[in-house]
Amino acid sequence: MEKKDVAYGAHVLVFPFPIQGHLNPMLQFAKRLASKGLKVTLATTISAAKSTHIGRGLFEIEPISDNQDTVTTKKDGLVFLTDGPGILTRLIKKHEGSGDPISCIIYDSILPWAIDVAKQLGLYGASFFTQTCAVNAIYYHFKQGKLDFPLDATTISIPGLPPLRISDLPSFVSSPESYPSVLEFVLNQFCNLEKADWVLVNSLDKLEDQEVRWMEGLWPVKTIGPTLPSMYLDKVMVSDNDYGINLSNPNGEPCQKWLDTRPTASVVYVSFGSVANLKADQMEELAWGLKESNKNFLWVVRASEQSKLPKNFVEETIEKGLVVTWCPQLEVLAHSAVGCFVTHCGWNSTLEALSLGVPMVAVPQWTDQPTNAKYVEDIWGVGLRVKVGENGVVRREEMENCIIEVMEGVRGKEIKKNAGKWMEFAKEALAEDGSSIKNIDDFVAKLINK
Ligand code: UDP
Repeated sequence: MEKKDVAYGAHVLVFPFPIQGHLNPMLQFAKRLASKGLKVTLATTISAAKSTHIGRGLFEIEPISDNQDTVTTKKDGLVFLTDGPGILTRLIKKHEGSGDPISCIIYDSILPWAIDVAKQLGLYGASFFTQTCAVNAIYYHFKQGKLDFPLDATTISIPGLPPLRISDLPSFVSSPESYPSVLEFVLNQFCNLEKADWVLVNSLDKLEDQEVRWMEGLWPVKTIGPTLPSMYLDKVMVSDNDYGINLSNPNGEPCQKWLDTRPTASVVYVSFGSVANLKADQMEELAWGLKESNKNFLWVVRASEQSKLPKNFVEETIEKGLVVTWCPQLEVLAHSAVGCFVTHCGWNSTLEALSLGVPMVAVPQWTDQPTNAKYVEDIWGVGLRVKVGENGVVRREEMENCIIEVMEGVRGKEIKKNAGKWMEFAKEALAEDGSSIKNIDDFVAKLINK
């Protein structure tokens, strides 16, 4: 492709799937590219676009209709419908006659048809993975039919990965019958990946060295993470202290004020992200486990989950606890009062806790969370994973014991030490000459010089 004579050097279109866990890292990457002199356009649904608050002029947003007849997120938030390729093509063509036509699409790996659009229009395409290389390796081997494990298998061997138990696998793989359409979705990430010019992963080399090497053997992989706002890591992009998109309303001020009143490392922060729904009995066990731990806690219970809280729980725990429907999670994790994160191990939450040095209690629910929890406990040593009891419910005593062990136990000391070490590695990856920043600079240079 000829080098385009444009003021910006290159114009990229960033195309995330419109759910919080995908918007955050891709938007953050978009900001990083804009800060390096690329023109960036973000294509996202009208409702997601309305929820953004990005610094003026950093990049343009192309809103896509979220009417039923075009592109929509269904209730389960996992399905793109009908005319995705048509919409993307029209959007790109709109810029063709302008002074800075789009030369590359950075698309969410779960929208693999975007690379076909890119290639039909003669553009570059970069697939962006919002999950780890380890999880990618598992999905890939499963798709290839190379992960044929008997249900009584004690360990499963996959190239580049530590030995895994079935309970460490992503839920769609350990229980393929649970959500067959989502399984198809996640496996399709690899259906045409060989056409991509780059495969970008929100991870860092040190975190999963072998797993990254395994991916590099198949595709042109570049780790570019962690994609936290710059002010939490390298501090190069001044005033970049927020993702800039919240599909729910954050309850910022009360959280900050409340945390300010609590002693250092005394608070358990609890959140299960933007999608997971806890069973009512699980919610109850968690609630009483928190109360019994006798620790301060800040608990995010989304509005749709509030009815599962035990009756009078909020009133009974008012001295120790604050329950909110959503919070500015990064600000919370970075607050000195927070000593432990009870998390579902969504990849963003996990990477945020790793980057900010917060020890974890891992309570994985579904999708890639069990694999992330395995790494949190056994590979990175930055947390404990709860043991699941009868009927798939984690009992209150287990919850309480894990919280206390992480906050003040012998293993907790080791975990805190490791958390500090990984925080430094995360910073290193984005510092001058860091592995991720070198990859980002290389990506930008290639786009500009192509
Ligand atoms: N998040 C937030 N406030 C909350 C809960 C979550 O800002 O109260 C953010 C969190 O920082 C993370 C994202 O939402 O960046 C959730 O992504 P993750 O991959 O952890 O989980 P998912 O929601 O996709 O299950």
